[in-house]
Amino acid sequence: MTTFNHARQALPRTTSWRERAACQFEDPELFFPEAETVTAIQIARRFCISSGCPVIKECLNSAMKEEGSAQPKFRYGVWGATGPSDRYKLYLGRERRPS
Ligand code: SF4
Repeated sequence: MTTFNHARQALPRTTSWRERAACQFEDPELFFPEAETVTAIQIARRFCISSGCPVIKECLNSAMKEEGSAQPKFRYGVWGATGPSDRYKLYLGRERRPS
């Protein structure tokens, strides 16, 4: 299944934060594994953090914006050191916050 990579490739390439991403030369499979097991997600999250990626916040914000209110099963891959369930929890937390 190539859905995860297609989703990533469909996003605009013009945003400059992507050019500073620590993962830009890594295999996308690391961040969009065929089987999103807990271990696979943890390995990718660890890369985001241990690499000192300078655009974690931008990466996470991009995913949150793209995914909107989607349920975890419709969220793909690791963005900003978060897996699909992490981002759904963040979404729910943001929804509950008073504006
Ligand atoms: S936070 Fe992780 S997935 Fe996002 S750009 Fe950085 S290394 Fe890549």
